[in-house]
Amino acid sequence: MPLFTKNGKTDDKDIDYVAFDNWDQTEPAAVDVPIDVLPENIVPLIANIQSIKIEFPTFSDGRGFTLARSIRDNGYTGNLRASGHLITEQFSQAIDCGFDEIQIDEQLAARQAANDWSYVERRTYRDKLRSSNPSGKFFPVPDGVWSETVTAVQHFSDNLFRFRITRPDGFRFRSGEFAMIGLPNAENPVFRAYSIASPAWDEELEFYSIKVPNGPLTQFLQRIKPGDQVLIKRKATGTLVNDVLLPGSRLWMLSTGTGIAPFASLIRDPETYEKFENLYLVHTARTHDELQCGYDITEKTRIDPLVGEHAAKQMIHYASTTRETSKQMGRITTLIENGKIFSDLGVSGLSPETDRIMICGSIQMIKDLKDICIKNGFTEGSHREAGTFAVERAFAG
Ligand SMILES: Cc1cc2nc3c(=O)[nH]c(=O)nc-3n(C[C@H](O)[C@H](O)[C@H](O)COP(=O)(O)OP(=O)(O)OC[C@H]3O[C@@H](n4cnc5c(N)ncnc54)[C@H](O)[C@@H]3O)c2cc1C
Repeated sequence: MPLFTKNGKTDDKDIDYVAFDNWDQTEPAAVDVPIDVLPENIVPLIANIQSIKIEFPTFSDGRGFTLARSIRDNGYTGNLRASGHLITEQFSQAIDCGFDEIQIDEQLAARQAANDWSYVERRTYRDKLRSSNPSGKFFPVPDGVWSETVTAVQHFSDNLFRFRITRPDGFRFRSGEFAMIGLPNAENPVFRAYSIASPAWDEELEFYSIKVPNGPLTQFLQRIKPGDQVLIKRKATGTLVNDVLLPGSRLWMLSTGTGIAPFASLIRDPETYEKFENLYLVHTARTHDELQCGYDITEKTRIDPLVGEHAAKQMIHYASTTRETSKQMGRITTLIENGKIFSDLGVSGLSPETDRIMICGSIQMIKDLKDICIKNGFTEGSHREAGTFAVERAFAG
């Protein structure tokens, strides 16, 4: 089975592990430890263990990290392996907790690029302050702001990319909200609103970003790489959260461009599947490249250990281009008004009785879709009073 270390992919070492419960504790051995074994039950035995394998039944179960840290803190210096359901985003955390290697099965490995199993050093606050100094000048991190480390960057096209940063301890948000992002490159850094594309439970924060030529923030942001620092203000807010809508059976998430970001968060939140029977994620962009982030995230969500089963049954992704020729073409407003989207999907048209709508995109798209909603008897929801549709701008200007 594939094995990953700090130095990359390596061959299986074929270590013969004995199950913890079957181990004669007087004999030195390589031991397979279930995730629910308490540190106090294993720490007294570490002198007799040559290699430890901790089994992760799901990637959302963090007990293995605590167990590993505790074993290392108590002086274990042998080989420590994490095995089972782990994802690339957890690799750095696993290494920091003391694991030497991660083993996953062939099926899971096939879904995650080998290069993504890469270690990104997490630094102390003091280190972060020192490194937030690309130009050689020292710019202190402003009050009320965290400085976080970039852990991954993926470019989809000349004007769209995705990045992930470490999540500050104590940063709380609801799936669908946005936060203010900046770079430590000036005394008074430029901050811009960014929808958080990761769900509220994720250990890191993910964003999709436009690249505006000469844009005060994105002309620099588009050059970030793993290990760099990004600033994030401490408060998240926003309208595209589940509570702003009344219960309904179908949720339509209508987006253009980076407006897909809050929905990338909501489709990975189990609460969305509890509240709505069917989710329709509609994404329109000018070119096929700009739709790739939507294809990637829906594919990832369908195999996600937490919500994958629900997503596979309840979520439909519908993408269209407006400029480049593709299988599905047209603006969302046109596709709704001429009924094509409903006939393509084989479902009935919009009704305030059953449907709830969230909209995120350009100002014109929002205006046109709002008109359609109101014309069809939908009412706009807010934090004060839930309604049947909700709106957020994907950008200002
Ligand atoms: C609530 C909210 C959430 C947002 N979420 C995101 C997000 O998740 N990802 C993201 O990239 N941007 C998002 N934005 C826009 C973001 O705040 C910045 O405008 C963007 O990062 C560009 O910053 P800039 O300083 O380089 O250029 P700016 O001076 O901010 O923008 C210059 C011009 O570029 C255009 N523009 C800006 N952002 C976009 C965009 N996303 N799509 C198409 N055209 C754009 C506009 O015409 C704007 O006037 C959001 C804005 C709001 C209000």
